[in-house]
Amino acid sequence: MTNLKPVDVAIVGGGWTGLAMAKELTTRTSATVVALERGHPRGAADYAMDMDELDYNIRLRMMQNIADETVTHRHSLRNTAVPVRQYGSFHPGTGVGGAGEHWTGMCFRFLPSLFTLRTHLTEKHGAAHLPPDLAVQDWGVTYEQLEPHYWYAEQMMGVSGKAGNLRGKLIEGGNIFEAPRMHEYPTPPLKNTQVSHLFEEAARQLGYHPYPTPAANLSENYTNPDGISRAACAYCSYCSRFGCMIGAKAQPTNTLLPVLRKQKNFQLRTGSWVHRVVHQNGRATGVEFTDASGEEFFQPAETVLLCSFTLNNVRLLYLSKIGAPYDPVAGKGTLGRNLTHQVEGGFRIFFNRPMNLFMGAGSLGRRISDFDGDNGLPGGDGLLRYGMLSLNGNGNLPIGSFGSMPPGTSQSRWGAEWKAAALQWNDRATQLNMYAEHMSYREHYFDLDPTYTDKFGDPLLRFTLDWTEHEHKQRDFAYDLAAKIAPAMGAKIDPTRPSRARYNVINYQSTHIQGGAVMGASPETSVVNPYLQHWDIPNLWVIGASSFPQTAAGNPTLTVMAVTYRAADAMINRYLKNPSRLA
Ligand SMILES: Cc1cc2nc3c(=O)[nH]c(=O)nc-3n(C[C@H](O)[C@H](O)[C@H](O)COP(=O)(O)OP(=O)(O)OC[C@H]3O[C@@H](n4cnc5c(N)ncnc54)[C@H](O)[C@@H]3O)c2cc1C
Ligand code: SF4
Repeated sequence: MTNLKPVDVAIVGGGWTGLAMAKELTTRTSATVVALERGHPRGAADYAMDMDELDYNIRLRMMQNIADETVTHRHSLRNTAVPVRQYGSFHPGTGVGGAGEHWTGMCFRFLPSLFTLRTHLTEKHGAAHLPPDLAVQDWGVTYEQLEPHYWYAEQMMGVSGKAGNLRGKLIEGGNIFEAPRMHEYPTPPLKNTQVSHLFEEAARQLGYHPYPTPAANLSENYTNPDGISRAACAYCSYCSRFGCMIGAKAQPTNTLLPVLRKQKNFQLRTGSWVHRVVHQNGRATGVEFTDASGEEFFQPAETVLLCSFTLNNVRLLYLSKIGAPYDPVAGKGTLGRNLTHQVEGGFRIFFNRPMNLFMGAGSLGRRISDFDGDNGLPGGDGLLRYGMLSLNGNGNLPIGSFGSMPPGTSQSRWGAEWKAAALQWNDRATQLNMYAEHMSYREHYFDLDPTYTDKFGDPLLRFTLDWTEHEHKQRDFAYDLAAKIAPAMGAKIDPTRPSRARYNVINYQSTHIQGGAVMGASPETSVVNPYLQHWDIPNLWVIGASSFPQTAAGNPTLTVMAVTYRAADAMINRYLKNPSRLA
């Protein structure tokens, strides 16, 4: 193993969180920083060269290669886990920018009650009325503390949208159920499409409060506070699962990397797969990694940051034997607890005329939050929290979107009859999408698989997860809501009610897997403190959605960035001046 020159900070992962921490540290301090990224360099020029739907959307070119590393899954402690061999209910990325390159760009702030969910639910329902296996907990940070960091992230990305609560003043047309924000969005909302306009009108007519989905896809040319200029979205639809060819979608490579390239105290090492955090006497001393040729290195560092997405943040802690593994039977230990996966689903709707669905952008759309958190829920029926319903105008692609038709239209799934029906319904079929909170439960957690290993021979991450009755209730609630809105839009909804099937590791859900190294005010119930500093090893920080004790209805990345920027401020203003425990 080759020993490298020591650095002040070694960062594992070159995605949203890794490059954001690197940018703050290298531009605001003189610290030497190296980011170790297992994948390759890439950027807009690469995406423009060889973009095609089969390669990116169907064969998932940008995703982690599961022949190198995958996860195993089981539904409960009583089952044996098996490896995910085919993608997959989530799509982790590899390469500079991480999943932040092929993400969709929906950018939500979470509700204040999500950050204090244990306290909130206990006050509202009484502890005795909560499910006994509910593991939700307070984050140790409040919405008010995160608000400036949300704004910092929104400006960096140039998020487009319309405020619905500006310093307490409610504004129709924005999300009036959101928490107060201090500033209007950096850029105005994306354009409406024909079909999202119909959704907006129908929702309003039914008394709901539709608003434009906040998007990291630029609605107009924009220069951010770092002086990085990007072009407005061209509504090409090749957005989610693709990198943007013109840089209109905020990605780490078109927002953070251009700043980092100018920093002499920053180095990005690609093809560098980190296997262990090395530690001694309660201090991290550096990380061990293998480069693309198979050579092994030790990178000594004063401080180590894990920024390798939920799955590898948790796995690296396990592999490095850092922290007390969670035991779901005894309810003891913290590492691995509170695994959640945002509850998503779609209800197909059909029009009797073409809707020009081929044009759109990743996060374009309109949605309602009238039932977000526990707003407007009838209560008493066991449905404690719900979320949002939307019409996403992300644009139909020629292969992935082809073939949706009402049930019973064609007897076969191939041949002349099917082709004729598929052509007839092409451009007349879309869906209403639900997004709901996923509360954490005692039996849902990550640990290391006892059988299966990755290409280096290290145990795979195992996750134990199933849907509970609460998620089925959320889906039923969302379907009933969609069934009211669809006819008001002039569409027919697929009469098939939501499936009550168990958690399925094959069908794509979202890449919003969270928890495992959760934050909190006490080392008894959390892995990191509210600044994302490890309780046991103060010079190790674990950054990302691994720190979320439960999942919001909204997609996580804007909140990931807000907690990351709060961690960066704490590290720069306090920790580096006096390296010690911050909480
Ligand atoms: C198709 C898709 C659509 C999405 N849409 C949205 C959306 O609309 N809104 C939203 O909020 N979120 C969305 N997300 C989620 C979003 O991409 C993630 O929340 C975000 O990228 C997380 O940032 P991160 O830095 O934690 O991880 P990433 O951005 O994934 O970066 C982690 C990096 O670490 C590297 N890494 C991992 N392990 C190692 C190791 N051992 N050694 C070295 N490097 C390592 C990986 O290669 C990767 O580059 C989407 C994700 C996908 C896949
Ligand atoms: S839809 Fe807009 S943001 Fe998305 S890839 Fe196309 S141009 Fe870029």
